[in-house]
Amino acid sequence: MFKKILVANRGEIALRIQRACRELGVKAVMVYSEADRDAKYVKLAEEAVCIGPAASSLSYLNMPAIISAAEVTDAEAIHPGYGFLSENADFAERVERSGFQFIGPTPESIRIMGDKVSAKQAMIKAGVPCVPGSEGELPDDPVQIRRIAKLVGYPVIIKAAGGGGGRGMRVVHTEAALITAVTRTKRDAGAAFGNPAVDMEKFLQNPRHIEIQIMADKYKNAVYLGERDCSMQRRHQKVIEEAPAPGIARKLIERVGDRCVSACKKIGYRGAGTIEFLYEDGEFYFIEMNTRVQVEHPVTELTTGIDIVKTQIMVAAGEKLPFTQRQIQIRGHAIECRLNAEDPYKFTPSPGRITMWHAPGGPGVRVDSHIYTNYFVPPNYDSMIGKIIVHGDTRDQALARMRTALGETVVEGINTNIALHRELMVDAQFITGGTNIHYLEGWLANHTR
Ligand code: ADP
Repeated sequence: MFKKILVANRGEIALRIQRACRELGVKAVMVYSEADRDAKYVKLAEEAVCIGPAASSLSYLNMPAIISAAEVTDAEAIHPGYGFLSENADFAERVERSGFQFIGPTPESIRIMGDKVSAKQAMIKAGVPCVPGSEGELPDDPVQIRRIAKLVGYPVIIKAAGGGGGRGMRVVHTEAALITAVTRTKRDAGAAFGNPAVDMEKFLQNPRHIEIQIMADKYKNAVYLGERDCSMQRRHQKVIEEAPAPGIARKLIERVGDRCVSACKKIGYRGAGTIEFLYEDGEFYFIEMNTRVQVEHPVTELTTGIDIVKTQIMVAAGEKLPFTQRQIQIRGHAIECRLNAEDPYKFTPSPGRITMWHAPGGPGVRVDSHIYTNYFVPPNYDSMIGKIIVHGDTRDQALARMRTALGETVVEGINTNIALHRELMVDAQFITGGTNIHYLEGWLANHTR
């Protein structure tokens, strides 16, 4: 096992990794920007290094600063968390070339999966079902593009190979709009991701977002830790996640889970990863793989009893997976609400000083958050300030626990989306379960105030 790890992230995930290190008896070096000097995990740290000013480009995305921090503190490995450099293959490569272990997959796996076109090709090869589409980069010739769209059938979605975080996608409903949409997506993709390649998929009308959690070691052992339903989204951003996915037969999950595991073995995947699918009419369609720990990992931890972050560190240190597929049991139901510093209905960010924070508690309640009373939420980063996660024997019990937990939660001084979560937890459709990816936006449109 490592003696010391550098945590190259901020916010709740930095604290989460610090906690995992403590449990493993590994020292965690925290890095921070000038805006995060007063973060809880920095105050709690045995060692912390300032890596630059508030702007992410100068701190959390600053590869030389992060690698130097690992050098001066004698860390042996770097945990990238999520976001920032976590899916940057060049960073993973530089980390390993500098003599540190990157806590994540190989740079090559990151590169394949980071490109939507090559990821889809790898999945098709491994027998993972994908959304029908161009099955490769779109050509330049408008005649050919129109022909492909006709074969796929409208509506179609044009996706940038290098896109991510819900950016770089355009839905096209008619042939008349097709070529302009492709040209624009290519131009935007070139500017935003430095890669103008795009492909085309059928745009599914009412799918759910279901994803499979994968864990693999360096010896080609791989398992899946069940699925998560992340269909409650706004602008392609997840708001609520749960496990297991309501109303999907275990047999179907097992079948797709097995395919995911064999895909990971085939590409020599190691560490934690998530294979994301759209699910419609009983079929799964691969959309992308995230080669890192995800925000919503706690719902899987609560239903499997497996600590994903600790396991990431253990397999990076060269240990074998401590469980087999048969030993993984899904127990009960878990729900996560993302706590954002924003207006609950207009979604304008609301950074600033938290004058009062009271976290919920009680049986089956987990809070992953770095905030505290008198903490200043900096305006420079993502608005997520924590997560409330509950577990119950049944989905109904989990819902009841989430209602109680949200009822107890107090955040004063800034706006948060707690009010939105409270309303959604008593919404009849959400309570029934199985809402699709458009449900939340439709709900919001009917609840304008
Ligand atoms: P990103 O990497 O930007 O997150 P994804 O490919 O994961 O992009 O897609 C993000 C979201 O966009 C999905 O969760 C879904 O809501 C929507 N989406 C993507 N592909 C399709 C599709 N073929 N049909 C319908 N919706 C889609």
